[in-house]
Amino acid sequence: MSEWTPDISRLREFDDEEWLRVERAFCGRLMAYVSRRVADAQAREDIVQEAFLGAVRGIDSFDPVYTFEQYLFGICRNRAIDHLRRRNAVGAGQPVDSSESLPGMDDLAVEEDTPSQVVHGTDLADQGHELLVGVLREWVQETWQQGEFKRLCVIEALFALGRRNRDVWEGFGLRDETAVAGIKFRALKRMRELALRRDSTGQLLGAMADATGDAQTRLDLDVARAWREGRVSCPARYWLARRDAGTLEEGPRSFVAFHLEETACSLCQANLDDLGQAREGDLDPLIERMRASTVQYLRSRAHGSADGA
Ligand SMILES: [Zn+2]
Repeated sequence: MSEWTPDISRLREFDDEEWLRVERAFCGRLMAYVSRRVADAQAREDIVQEAFLGAVRGIDSFDPVYTFEQYLFGICRNRAIDHLRRRNAVGAGQPVDSSESLPGMDDLAVEEDTPSQVVHGTDLADQGHELLVGVLREWVQETWQQGEFKRLCVIEALFALGRRNRDVWEGFGLRDETAVAGIKFRALKRMRELALRRDSTGQLLGAMADATGDAQTRLDLDVARAWREGRVSCPARYWLARRDAGTLEEGPRSFVAFHLEETACSLCQANLDDLGQAREGDLDPLIERMRASTVQYLRSRAHGSADGA
């Protein structure tokens, strides 16, 4: 059971069928994301529509170290911030609408570490960061397959939440804080092995360590940033679906619960909201409008290139 992901090369060729599949597959979760942040129903639809158009326009700069879903959510988040900024600018002093329970723009801007633009980096530091994201994702997968969910929770607590060893051990039923230090030590050791496999010359890892005299501290910081920005621990959507259906066994359930409740991951929350909705064609009119605007844009591009313009 794996989730459909689009063929990026087809998207880059502006293949309209593939883009329409994308819109159909991702519309619901983007809508769920925006719904938690923007009160105005019409504005929500505009934001989602703009996000898809932005995704089409920017697809050449998509960095495959991130998932396509992260790319879409990153653009959607920026459109939502733009909207809230405009609304704040014109609406100052006016009575607030029903959005009082929604987070304001400032909350949205700081609520997560997702890079505002998920674009391909060029310098050595960017490449090192990308390497780390890939390594961490691999480590998460490996640990998940080994059924080591407590280890996964501990590392998530340290890297995603920035908790300290002494704040973590009791909550996970560990002996003491040296047990946490041991888990972290072994995890970093394994991550380094995985990194060397991808970077056999050691050039990128070396560049990262050189940036400061204290290589260990530096690596810790880089790992924590890559963990958060890469969203390396987000469970695939079908795990969320199984959680929703109550069919998840204890191990993965404990990690998914920790991830959702402790890190308050907005991307997973949007997927969960979307899964919980009985979608009975309620998004069809929006999808149809997006189809029209996407096709129009794709045609204008095809026309432009045919003219050599
Ligand atoms: Zn997540």
